[in-house]
Amino acid sequence: MKQENTPQDNLLASPSLLRKIDQLRERNIGQHVPLPQLVVVGDQSSGKSSLLESLTGIPFPRDVELCTRYATQITQRRDHSTHVNITIIPGPNSSDEHKSHVEAYHGSALSGEDLRAKFPAILQEVNARMGIRMSSSAKGGTVFSEDILKIEICGPKEDYLTVIDVPGIFRNSTEGVTTKQDILLVRNMVTHYIRDNRTIILAVLPCNIDIANQEILTLAEEYDKKGERTLGILTKPDLVPEASGKDTICSIVENKRKQLTLGYYVVRSRGADQDDSGYESREQMFNEDPWRRLDRGRVGVRALKTKLGELLGEMAKREFPKLRKDIGEMLSRAEKERDGLGPARGTDTEQRIFLSHIADKFQELTKASLEARYHHDPAFEASFHLKLATLMAFLAEDFSREFEEKAAFRYFENEDSDTDDYDDDDDDDEVVDEDFLPMNPNQTLPAANAKRILRAATRDLDPEEFPELDGIISDRYEVEDPEDDIMDWITNLYVRSRGMELGHYTNAVQASAWREQSSKWPIISRAFTSRAIMIVQRFITDTLSIVCPDSTLRDTLWSCIQEEVLERYKKATGFLEYLLSVEREINPYTLNKHFNRTRQEAHADRAASHILATLQEAEQAGGDNATVTIGQVRSSTRDKSNIQDVAEQLHDGLSSYYDVARKRFVDNVWTQVVQSHLLFGSNTPLRVFTQDWVIGLGAEQLDAIAGESSSVKEQRANLARKIKDLKEAKKILSF
Ligand code: GDP
Ligand code: MG
Repeated sequence: MKQENTPQDNLLASPSLLRKIDQLRERNIGQHVPLPQLVVVGDQSSGKSSLLESLTGIPFPRDVELCTRYATQITQRRDHSTHVNITIIPGPNSSDEHKSHVEAYHGSALSGEDLRAKFPAILQEVNARMGIRMSSSAKGGTVFSEDILKIEICGPKEDYLTVIDVPGIFRNSTEGVTTKQDILLVRNMVTHYIRDNRTIILAVLPCNIDIANQEILTLAEEYDKKGERTLGILTKPDLVPEASGKDTICSIVENKRKQLTLGYYVVRSRGADQDDSGYESREQMFNEDPWRRLDRGRVGVRALKTKLGELLGEMAKREFPKLRKDIGEMLSRAEKERDGLGPARGTDTEQRIFLSHIADKFQELTKASLEARYHHDPAFEASFHLKLATLMAFLAEDFSREFEEKAAFRYFENEDSDTDDYDDDDDDDEVVDEDFLPMNPNQTLPAANAKRILRAATRDLDPEEFPELDGIISDRYEVEDPEDDIMDWITNLYVRSRGMELGHYTNAVQASAWREQSSKWPIISRAFTSRAIMIVQRFITDTLSIVCPDSTLRDTLWSCIQEEVLERYKKATGFLEYLLSVEREINPYTLNKHFNRTRQEAHADRAASHILATLQEAEQAGGDNATVTIGQVRSSTRDKSNIQDVAEQLHDGLSSYYDVARKRFVDNVWTQVVQSHLLFGSNTPLRVFTQDWVIGLGAEQLDAIAGESSSVKEQRANLARKIKDLKEAKKILSF
């Protein structure tokens, strides 16, 4: 095949702008932002490939069987050395397998000449790679492909020109060859290219077919409303036999028929059975009538090429500022996305530093929270649940009060059964309205509201929200008020279990009275400990999501520390059980001097109240100067039955002991179970995820937690490439 000679002088205007566009294209910027380009569209066999051949010198197959089955992008670029690169860009919907198969293809040629020689063989291979069905008799494969064949021709004499050849539009499917789906596929491919307003549409119209029937002009009009980027190219003028037909074509070129803003051009390409003569000899016909009358600027491939160069140059000029802006925006988006991925975690060291940094942040927040240094981090403003110190102080107070009010099974005699000292006010039965919680808990609130919020955040916790704590925390949170009639009960107890001792009760009676009186202690103290555990657990979860926003990483991290965290909660509840057993299962005894004092006081109070009653009786009977005789004082204790006397002693001893033990127990639960096991000790659940823990991780475990999934790695690599490309692009566009 002889070389098709093409007009190759520097026909293009603004070559520096076009060069820039090409440099951008080279850096794959076209994938991210549309770049000015030419696309050849038209019906099947309208002469698109032949036109491209005239424009670029590449001999496209013109065989009807081998009509264009995929988009071909031809880029010509000026370069000091001559070379041709051929690659396939996989279509957007390709499978990974297909993708790697077509991407593995790389064809090359030493020069345009070399390419021309190899071209049929290259196309064979490309078609095979894409899986194109080569002939109507062949089985398998597809008729059309969304893959793009990319041919890049570089050389010192090449123009900066990128043209895309797309399959021709057709309307009727052919039995056994093309389907309705193919029609749609091709149409979509075409519109994909012409939709973009940086695309110049070369609408190819064969002269031997009525131009009114050319759907492509309607399609182009649809996407290029103002007609600013549609150029009509009339082909096959040599196939118009009659003079009247030629005349019609001429008037179209003169833009007198179906008008286009950019007008029409007429070119003659090589016919199927025509020899290899150059364009000059073919275009001789334009010197004859009626073509002679046409403006030379509208006739022939040379004039067309000049016009295309101008158009591209104008478009480049017009689009550059916008392109610069687009690229700038895209760059900052990509950088943001990259920053969102955090630092790279490829190596062991990178992973350790990364995780260690997260652990450090976690511990810092924990420390600040325990010390109530809430100004330390804005996170505290956003969530009340992070304020551990405040929540725990409130919870502890609440526990202490509830214990005092409700923990005894029966009210002691000297107690006022409606202790309203602490009664938590007015709002006790009001339901806490969650909506009422302020977004910013630091905003000043009426004291009652603050109390409600604290109450909601500490008492109204739902164990169902902590399924992981199942089996660790209590399932009972409420207790009844104490019962009355303690003296009846004590008397009964004594009568039922007394031995033969003289006027005294046994240790056994005392012990069983004690056990019953303290029988609600486990419930209340377990409820308190459980609430404290839920608050700590919620703190850990919330804080982890702050220091580690990546949810996959967070989940893995949690699954690694979970066991140990739960173990430490169990230690706390275990310690509570220990304290309970110490208090309740060992016979009541104390060294506390307070015990004797209160018991004696109770005894004295009893005598005093008896005397007081006698005095009041005397006063009522005998007027102002009533007196109580020694005899009366003596009888105040002597007249009691033995049972009553012992019962009173038992009550007073129990009451005094209860008082001492309750204070001791409440304090112990707070300091030893909560403070030491849950909050401040070095073995609390809050101290599982530490830098030391990270340092102690084995390489494999570390990689399992902090290593990146292959998709993240790929994403990171893609972003890095994209950012590099866009930065380059910015540089190219800046001068
Ligand atoms: P495509 O399907 O639009 O790419 O059309 P082709 O470029 O493959 O052309 C279809 C047929 O028309 C081929 O046989 C070409 O040789 C022929 N052809 C294209 N342009 C001309 C032309 O200007 N004159 C003549 N006589 N034949 C042409
Ligand atoms: Mg074609």
